[in-house]
Amino acid sequence: MLDRNEVDRYAVVGNPVAHSLSPAIHAAFAKQTGESLSYERIEAPLDGFARTVADFLAGGGRGVNVTVPFKGEAASWVGKLEANAAFAEAVNTIVPDEAGGYVGHNTDGPGLVMDMERLLPGATGLSVLLLGAGGAARGVAAPLLDGPARSLTIANRTVSRATALAERLRKAGYGSVAGTGFDTATGSFDLVVNATSAGLAGGVPSIAPDLVRGAYCYDMVYGATTPFCRWAAEAGAAGMADGLGMLVGQAALAFELWRGVLPDVPPVLAQIRARIGGSDA
Ligand code: NAP
Repeated sequence: MLDRNEVDRYAVVGNPVAHSLSPAIHAAFAKQTGESLSYERIEAPLDGFARTVADFLAGGGRGVNVTVPFKGEAASWVGKLEANAAFAEAVNTIVPDEAGGYVGHNTDGPGLVMDMERLLPGATGLSVLLLGAGGAARGVAAPLLDGPARSLTIANRTVSRATALAERLRKAGYGSVAGTGFDTATGSFDLVVNATSAGLAGGVPSIAPDLVRGAYCYDMVYGATTPFCRWAAEAGAAGMADGLGMLVGQAALAFELWRGVLPDVPPVLAQIRARIGGSDA
């Protein structure tokens, strides 16, 4: 058993957090890289994120992952934000800096792009439909455009959030970006990324099946099967993947920020996949 006085402590803070796979992922990274650390789940009260994180760090914690619903609050709490976290207004990784403060990072977008490189090696110039305009969509939009996407259409249930995100991307210098609603989305897409949380309650964004026919479909929700992957298969998608690879990828990038070593993702992804079921396309 790890002696908490002798190893560096990390944690994921969320509410709820009991389901989080992050402790298992970081334990596997630590074993693989020979790093000595502990990683725990902490459920913060909905009105107690700042107090919970401050207590953990003051008690010797060396870094924090942040999950639902605190990513936006974490962006306000840290003293500094790296560029993607600032654009997303969402932080999933808190890293101490040399001045005794804390920097907020968002590794969700780079984690998704890392997984796309595994699933669609060498893919560039993709026409991408991004479903959702919440924290996860904001975190992946710019990394997708910096990576495999040539154009990005953002469709969201609340249309104004999609158009606002598209406008911010255009102001940041990205071309070929549009925002729309689910029922007004049109076009032909190579890749459709579901960044809505509809699947957590068994739902699917109400888009036309034509939009996914022939496209590769990626669901940020993960599991042996997900409602969106099932629906996309029936609608004629060319391929499907759930978000487990993104989860392990974003965790690997957080581990690198904390420990200075990037773990090898595929063996850990295979280990976690075996635990939850399903397959990696
Ligand atoms: P969020 O900020 O709460 O945003 C939720 C998004 O889903 C919004 O666009 C919302 O639309 C939409 N939505 C919610 N319920 C819906 C429904 N019934 N039908 C259609 N759209 C619906 O959450 P988030 O942080 O962006 O997370 C989104 C999802 O990504 C979650 O399921 C999360 O678990 C997953 N995620 C996965 C990873 C990974 O590593 N695999 C990383 C980050 C997030 P409105 O704007 O209209 O409310």
